Amino acid sequence: MGVYGRVWESWRERAWGIMKWYWYVSRPNELFLDLDNQRAVLFALEKLERNNPDYLAVRDRYLYESGTPGHYHLIVRVYGSMPAMERAIWELYLGSDIRRQEYVMMRLQRGLDGLPLTSADFLITPEPYGFRKPDLECDCEGKHKEKRITDDCPVMQVLLEDQRSAVYFALKGTMKLQLGKLPPMKGKK
Ligand SMILES: [Zn+2]
Repeated sequence: MGVYGRVWESWRERAWGIMKWYWYVSRPNELFLDLDNQRAVLFALEKLERNNPDYLAVRDRYLYESGTPGHYHLIVRVYGSMPAMERAIWELYLGSDIRRQEYVMMRLQRGLDGLPLTSADFLITPEPYGFRKPDLECDCEGKHKEKRITDDCPVMQVLLEDQRSAVYFALKGTMKLQLGKLPPMKGKK
């Protein structure tokens, strides 16, 4: 989506609370990568260039802006099909956002791999991508982050059932970093 498209969408979203989200649910021949900057894109593309096709039989690749400026979704289609956990591991290997992959893998481990109904691995975009038709749509009024949206989203209810607002990892408190000269490392003089 271009700059004007984004401005229009955000204006429309604010003015009327109307927003359309398109959902792609990964199929057995699709890897979905969430890449948060150009460096991550280049890292993935270079790894794919150097990939040995005996291990990953790449058929084609599609790159799109994810709807957040500077963020990208890379779709890698392979020949044949792969189990969901194997695809998640390949996505991690290719540098997809680690937080996303933690969630995909935990969801798979918790049983959300029952295609076509539940599914752990998906992409959400405000504009359809060209590689194929989206699987599902919703009109939630914002990004699928806040609990009030993830709880109510009809697509998440289908894909993630009672885990749609799940938090699998959490830290308590914050670490205060010491600045300036740091103390000697443990075990060193
Ligand atoms: Zn939704």
